[in-house]
Amino acid sequence: MNWRVRGLCLREDPELFFPVGSINSGPVTIQTEDAKAVCRRCPVMQRCLAWAVEMGPVEGIWGGTTERERRALRRRPVRVRCTAENAA
Ligand code: SF4
Repeated sequence: MNWRVRGLCLREDPELFFPVGSINSGPVTIQTEDAKAVCRRCPVMQRCLAWAVEMGPVEGIWGGTTERERRALRRRPVRVRCTAENAA
């Protein structure tokens, strides 16, 4: 997990990546999008995403995705495997 030291989230408030509240509420949506914007600029986004997908359920925004989005990725094993291989 040494890729994490290059993550842009280390320069942000950690709470940004863990929205609390109703999933469809305005504040949670805004916070989620703000966190994803940081991830999109992050040099280790693909590795982070591959890690989060392989870890199984983990709370928060990782690799530019919510846990709900990662759950959908896990249902597509071929695509997940390709993502993990590209990140290696
Ligand atoms: S992709 Fe997002 S959560 Fe992952 S290391 Fe980068 S900024 Fe942090």
